[in-house]
Parts: sequence; structure tokens; C-alpha cells
Amino acid sequence: MRSNTLYVVIPCYNEEEVLPETARRLKEKMKCLTAEGLISGDSKIIFVNDGSKDRTWDLIQGLHRKDPLYGGINLTRNRGHQNALLAGLMTVKEYADIMISMDSDLQDDIGAMDEMLKKYQKGIDIVYGVRNSRKKDTFFKKATAEGFYKLMKFLGADTVFNHADYRLMSKRAVEGLAEFKEVNLFLRGVIPLIGYPSDFVYYERGERFAGRSKYPLGKMISFAVEGITSLSIRPIRLITALGFLIFFMSIVMLIYSFVRHFMGATIVGWTTLMVSVWAIGGLILLSLGVVGEYIGKIYLETKERPRFLVEQFLHETGGEGKKPAGDKTEGKSRSEAEGIEL
Ligand code: UDP
Ligand code: MG
Repeated sequence: MRSNTLYVVIPCYNEEEVLPETARRLKEKMKCLTAEGLISGDSKIIFVNDGSKDRTWDLIQGLHRKDPLYGGINLTRNRGHQNALLAGLMTVKEYADIMISMDSDLQDDIGAMDEMLKKYQKGIDIVYGVRNSRKKDTFFKKATAEGFYKLMKFLGADTVFNHADYRLMSKRAVEGLAEFKEVNLFLRGVIPLIGYPSDFVYYERGERFAGRSKYPLGKMISFAVEGITSLSIRPIRLITALGFLIFFMSIVMLIYSFVRHFMGATIVGWTTLMVSVWAIGGLILLSLGVVGEYIGKIYLETKERPRFLVEQFLHETGGEGKKPAGDKTEGKSRSEAEGIEL
């Protein structure tokens, strides 16, 4: 039997509406799991407050005061779902044997945790929660999300299809993840790169039971761009291929103009000229844009800014009292707190 102290890590951004219910349901679940002997009694539920503007952090503090089962991590400001999740994992990894990450709106079925934990006991280090249908999502959300995976795959960022960030990771898998120092973080793409035995658990994705999605279309698009450009350089290759094609076309055009010239029909060029000027101009700009995107990434990576800063860690372990922790202690090589704007 592998040791089984479970820490559930939940990023929260303006989730005051869902938090009390989420906390209640998860507590029940944890009780059942402990009774079944799947997790140990000192397992915890850790909420990561991602710079919420509402009462989320107050609620987390309240929960923690009432029941040490709940812990909280307060980030200094909003850093986005991926960084909040990473902050949670990195902060709790020294206390936990198993970490399960999920969203605060419980769209991911907590019933799948049992199966995840059983797989862990069979020696699996990373268990991906995969939704087998998106019946409950709106048509628009479903179409954009599926399009997103397909586009990602085509552009060279291979991710697990229909897997969001609901997954189990063992301690050593999270320690592996800690070795990935990239600042442009796209967990779904990086985690398969860690290695170790992995498996899938399928579940039905439910509706958000309260509050609004914190991922409007704009954020989703930037998430997709982030995912692609931080994982692969295939877009650059595509541009290069396009460049070759255009070059080939221009040779064809050249031959064509000569033929026309010797046939004596010259002044036909204006339209074609204008069209090519615009086409090539546009293409150059586009290529510059893509190249610029990568240069921007290099620029940000070289800064080695901290990916998150923990303001406070509420956590009680049997008798030891509260221990503060954070990226400040994590990444010693990382620069100081100033300017975390990315
Ligand atoms: N979230 C976060 N920081 C953000 C945006 C979202 O921590 O800047 C959290 C949010 O609280 C939720 C999870 O990420 O727990 C997923 O967000 P949401 O449910 O809004 O996304 P959707 O399910 O609509 O894709
Ligand atoms: Mg959601």
C-alpha cells in the first residue's frame, strides 16, 4: 500500500457563491474516502485564493478556523488559473503523498476521485480526469473547447483530449513538475512531459452550480495562444513552409510575366502588382508577429520572475502548528518580489 495523505488543491477566483457548497460536498467526500481507507486521516482540502476581489479569502479563512481539514493559500494578486494551481501544488507537495487538483465550481465530478485513488494504489503516478461528454456545456462553449483541442494538436501542442485540470498526481510527479522552470506555464501540455506511469478516469462534466464562468472567450483565446506558443514551435515551421510556397509562386509569376512580355502583351501588371504587394506585405507582417511572439517568450523567460507569490498559507498539521511556505522559499534562484507583471 502506497502512503496516502491526499491534498485536494482548488484554485478560486471570485468564487464566494460556490465556495461554501463546494467545501461542504468535498468534506463529505473526504469522510467517505477516509472511511474506505483510500486516504489517510490527515488529508486536507486546500483552497488557493487567486487574488479574488470578493469575499473568497474571508470565506476560506472562516472555513479554516472552523475545521483544520480546510487550508488556504492566499496569492498576492490574480495570476490566472494555471499559476494558482501551480502555487497550490508547490506549496503542499512536501506534506502530501497525493495531490488532486480540481475547479472550485465542482464541474468535475468528485465521484471520480475514488477511481483515481485506486489507480494510484496500483502504481499509477498521474491520473487524468477526462470528460466523456459535454452535454451540460452550452453549444458555444463545447464547440470552442473542442476546436481548441484540435487546433492545439494540429499546431504541435499535444494535450490529453477533453482533459481539463482535474487530475491526480503523486508526490514524485509533482516534484518532477517542480523541475520545469518555465514561466509561460501551460500545465496540460507540460504534465505529459513528466513521464511516470499515467492513466485516465472518465467522468461526466456537470454544470457550474453557481456563479459565472471565469473563462470568457477572450481569456480562452489567450489561453490557447499561450498553450501553443509555450509548447511548440510548429507555427514558425508553418510560416516557413508558407514562405517557401510563396517563393515558388513568385517564380511561377516571373516566368508567366516573361512569357506575356515576349507575347507582346505587357501593361497588364497593375492589378497583379498591387495584389502581390499587399499579399507579401501581409505575409511579412504575419511572420514577424509570430517570430515576435517567441521573442517575447524568451524575454519573459530570461527574467525568471516568480510565477506566484504566497502571501499566507493557512495550514494545520497534527500538533506542528502552522507552517508558512511559498515560492519565496521554493525558487531560491528566482528574483525578488518586485514587478511580477507578466
Ligand atoms: N480561476 C482562477 N483564476 C482565474 C480564473 C479562474 O483561479 O484567473 C479558477 C476558478 O475559480 C475555477 C477554475 O479556475 O475554480 C476554472 O474556472 P471556470 O470554472 O470559471 O472555468 P470554466 O469551467 O468555465 O472553463
Ligand atoms: Mg468551471
